[in-house]
Amino acid sequence: MIKNKKQQYSHSPTEDGEKYRMLFEASEDPMWLIIDQKFEICNDAAVRTLGYKSQSELRNTHPSQLSPKYQEDGKPSFDAAEEMMTIALTKGYHRFHWTHTKKSGENFPVEVTLTKIPFQGKDAIFCVWRDITDQYNLEKELREAKINAEEASKSKSKFLSMMSHELRTPLNAVLGFSDMLKNELYGPLNEKQMGTVKSIYQGGELLLHLVDDLLSMAKIDQGEINLNIEHNNASEIVKNSINLVEKLANDSQITLHCEDIPDDLNCLYADRVRAEQILVNLLTNAIKYNQPGGNIWISVDKNNSYTRFSVEDDGKGIQRDHAKQIFEPFYRGEQTTSGIEGTGLGLPICRRLSIEMNGECDFESVYGQGSVFWLDLPRCVGCPSFDDKCDIGRKHSH
Ligand code: ADP
Repeated sequence: MIKNKKQQYSHSPTEDGEKYRMLFEASEDPMWLIIDQKFEICNDAAVRTLGYKSQSELRNTHPSQLSPKYQEDGKPSFDAAEEMMTIALTKGYHRFHWTHTKKSGENFPVEVTLTKIPFQGKDAIFCVWRDITDQYNLEKELREAKINAEEASKSKSKFLSMMSHELRTPLNAVLGFSDMLKNELYGPLNEKQMGTVKSIYQGGELLLHLVDDLLSMAKIDQGEINLNIEHNNASEIVKNSINLVEKLANDSQITLHCEDIPDDLNCLYADRVRAEQILVNLLTNAIKYNQPGGNIWISVDKNNSYTRFSVEDDGKGIQRDHAKQIFEPFYRGEQTTSGIEGTGLGLPICRRLSIEMNGECDFESVYGQGSVFWLDLPRCVGCPSFDDKCDIGRKHSH
């Protein structure tokens, strides 16, 4: 039985050859036999694809003769084709992308596979093309869309930063003069006049804040933010930030509580000015979205390799529905209609700056009970154990 089966499947070399030739001819993918670096035999699919009339027209052509002068990477097609064939003959197999040219002069992309085969006593190459025009066009479209989006984003950021600069000058005049009026440097004001001047001043301040925030966002987007990341002292950052919001907290009747910062957490690796900018923003929010008699707790903890600054408040809290978008530019959640002034840019800037410093800014909140926002910044390498590189660490904890 077995013997019979074997007999059933065995063929003579000529029968096999005929079968392979039929497969070669019937294939819809262009196929070639390359001998001595020239296309010698091809199938009808190759003839059709290239727009020729007969196989004989394509015989004895170097692959570069059916290609543009240069490939996409700028290499001359002749040199590149020689290189591809050498790799196939050395390694036995090679697959790559190539641009060919039809008789009409139109270029088209193919994926080429070259396989070394023995043919009439020497090494030849069996070559198959797969048309990848659709994939190529799609990739090209995606590439172009990405470039366009990047260009649009760059122009937007450029426009914003230019406008912000232009707006600052007149705004400073509005603020300066209304401040002088408000302080009655030009003579006493009646109640109505004082109220109006204060409104001008407050409006100007808000506008300046918006312009500053827009400028910061644009700078971050354009990669123009200059960070001075170095060993810094957590206590100093907290102290400076509190100094800047103390008056606002007093005016709003909010009590600030600050825990002592453990010595071993004192040293971190960050840009001091930016870290303070973030903390001031978190503290200002904790004051703004609170009520008289409210509290804020500032603490510094360890979180893996990060120093975590937490700003906790017992204010309004944030509704779950708003939580996901709170870091999106201009998103103000339920404050949009509350009358509490803001731009919706503070938190996005905090997050972007924290990421620039290899840190993170996030929050948790229970609506009606309060929120805790935190800033994680990398701790100094080598701290808290003594490390010569770390001056702050040496001064404070070692
Ligand atoms: P702004 O304060 O200018 O509106 P932010 O980006 O700083 O912009 O904050 C976005 C929104 O997040 C605020 O409008 C507010 O709804 C909410 N938010 C931020 N911090 C707090 C907080 N501590 N408590 C309650 N809501 C907050």
